Amino acid sequence: MRLIDEVSDAASVAISGHIRPDGDCVGSVMGLYLYLKKELPKAEIDIYLDKPADIFDCISHIEDIKSEFNTNKIYDVFFVLDCEDDRLGNAHPLFESARKRINIDHHISNKGCGDVRIVEPDRSSTAELLYDLMRPEMIDIEVATALYIGIIHDTGVLRYSNTSPRTLQIASELIKFGFNFSDIIQKTFYEKTYVQTQIMGRAVLESVRFMHNRCIVSMVSRRMMDFYQVTPQDLDGIVNQLLAVKGVECAIFMYETGTLEYKVSMRSDGKVDVAAVAMRFGGGGHVRAAGCTMNGTYHDNINNLAIGIAEQLDLA
Ligand code: AMP
Ligand code: MN
Ligand code: MN
Repeated sequence: MRLIDEVSDAASVAISGHIRPDGDCVGSVMGLYLYLKKELPKAEIDIYLDKPADIFDCISHIEDIKSEFNTNKIYDVFFVLDCEDDRLGNAHPLFESARKRINIDHHISNKGCGDVRIVEPDRSSTAELLYDLMRPEMIDIEVATALYIGIIHDTGVLRYSNTSPRTLQIASELIKFGFNFSDIIQKTFYEKTYVQTQIMGRAVLESVRFMHNRCIVSMVSRRMMDFYQVTPQDLDGIVNQLLAVKGVECAIFMYETGTLEYKVSMRSDGKVDVAAVAMRFGGGGHVRAAGCTMNGTYHDNINNLAIGIAEQLDLA
């Protein structure tokens, strides 16, 4: 399938992704936007997304993202990237009213939504999948930069097991465009502000291991976030740091989003399918990286997650 065949007669296109967008979501949305501007120079193309973290300012035209929504508009085509429609947030009415809805994603938990459903769980990232739907001759350095950011963020810089030979081939095609990939990796993936480093240290310090040290959990409260003056985006990477502890097979990190409400992130070395655990609580993701939102006290939430994990580790 080629993307252009699905959108060639569209006069208006909207592109969106999930709430609290990560690097793959931002890279995919922007990569597709920049690509379609070249493919459909006469079309009106809009992007709807929560404001991305400042690290993504290196992506060209990132300022075109609309984070305020005029939900009365009816688009010819609406793209849902890196999620299904239930995580669109405020952009959801625009998905509902669009004439044609296209879903492109790589989450194993995604049943697919809309009229055209391209969900390939074997793909490292939505950005990788998008590359293979694009006409290579229409990709330029700006599109390439955005897609590359998507790929490196969902693969931990081509390191996680979701990295396939095809992922590396595509990454190799992309860096031929000549952007400074080393700088992009450092500035968007590894570099942390001082407060980001402080709160990560605090979360690691207060972490607790359980289930014979095979699991680890930590939590950041609203009070802690206020104290360090951090936003949820500043907490990226903490759960991966917890999983890096020797002997740990499953890491859980949560932060308080409201009264008795937590955003949960889970990571696994492969033994535990954390997407299956997250799906019990209305979330989803991948075998080794998944998330959900849970209501209840911190300790109740750990206990409830632990039941699903223990079953898989044969500890139940
Ligand atoms: P996170 O822990 O938020 O970085 O998410 C890990 C993976 O799970 C990412 O691929 C997310 O897109 C996915 N994910 C996180 N939360 C949810 C959710 N509530 N529903 C479906 N997928 C999720
Ligand atoms: Mn994502
Ligand atoms: Mn993704």
